Amino acid sequence: MPIGTQKDYYAILNVDRSAKPELIRKSYRRLARKFHPDFNPNNKAAEEKFKQLQEAYDVLSDEKKRQVYDQFGFYSDNIPPGGPGVHPSTGGPGPGFDFSGFDFSDFGGTAEKGGGFGSTFRDLFSQFFSGGGREEVEPQGPSRGEDLEHRLHLGFWDAIRGTSVRLTIARPQVCGTCRGTGSTGGVSVACARCGGTGKARRQAGAMQFMVTCPDCGGSGKQQRRCSTCGGSGQTRRPESFEVKIPPGVDTGSRIRVAGKGGVGKTGGAAGDLYILTDVEPHPYFERKGDNIYVKLPVTVTEAALGAKVEVPTLDGMTTIKIPPGTQSGQKLRLREKGAPSLRSSMRGDQFVEVQVMVPRVADERTKEILRELARLNPEDPRQQLKAVSSK
Ligand code: ZN
Ligand code: ZN
Repeated sequence: MPIGTQKDYYAILNVDRSAKPELIRKSYRRLARKFHPDFNPNNKAAEEKFKQLQEAYDVLSDEKKRQVYDQFGFYSDNIPPGGPGVHPSTGGPGPGFDFSGFDFSDFGGTAEKGGGFGSTFRDLFSQFFSGGGREEVEPQGPSRGEDLEHRLHLGFWDAIRGTSVRLTIARPQVCGTCRGTGSTGGVSVACARCGGTGKARRQAGAMQFMVTCPDCGGSGKQQRRCSTCGGSGQTRRPESFEVKIPPGVDTGSRIRVAGKGGVGKTGGAAGDLYILTDVEPHPYFERKGDNIYVKLPVTVTEAALGAKVEVPTLDGMTTIKIPPGTQSGQKLRLREKGAPSLRSSMRGDQFVEVQVMVPRVADERTKEILRELARLNPEDPRQQLKAVSSK
């Protein structure tokens, strides 16, 4: 019995025409279990009934297909080109499925509660009946080109100030030999996937189905593959172009260059190129995010009395005020003297860590002055430590 002729799917599923999807599903599950070939060995009638159930459910469980069916009285999406064939292993009619290797365990008695059967079995069949293979052979719509990644090593100052680099990227482009079709045209050869039979095995979980070969659409023939691109329709060709690197990139930054990935297929947009930057460290300026850290040596006198000293910044030398009584390790902040930010218009800050340098004293005169200093400032810096071990 050819599929696609008028059949009453509602009668097959034992529901009336106004049945809600949930009811159709329940009825299908009950009947599918009852007529499943593994429960009815060598029963041709049950097998036929089971196939009808699948077919009916495929249409009625899909809102769009059901609409077409309700309107025209049939739905013929799944007829393979050339009409229903004969199944090689069962010899039965129709586009048939091969149940060898079907594990029946997840089709068990508790299935009615919505466990294994409802989710796995139905999905497998809807996957089959939705004709995944068929969609592949239909002319493909536009598809976006692939995104590419390129690592770029940058010097410290180029990363801070921004720069422009000339890159040469091997971009996937339309194959010049076949103009993107993937085949050289003319001579056709037997389809490599199905060996010319037009049928292919499809594995879905533990089940195997015979389906229309997705490579040749059931014709068993294929045009000779383009040897330049291996049938993909694209080849990589180097292309050079300028890329602007914004100020403030750091190691690990990702810069998107729109439209410089692979070209799209059949009119699809090109993918993007992502540049991953890797920035060389600077011997003096230490970068953490958008902030810059430096160490600034000062004399004991500058730290004690306070001073104005010069400190290097990304913008050149600037003067910083050391407050009287500054201790070694203390950090002073220079607002917005850090790296430019990729995320905001504010720059990061520069943190200046003070390092008090103690003089190496050799002459008697200086030693006298320091002893005098000690007499004038008898406070003990370890005063607070005395309590530590007495507790
Ligand atoms: Zn080609
Ligand atoms: Zn084929």
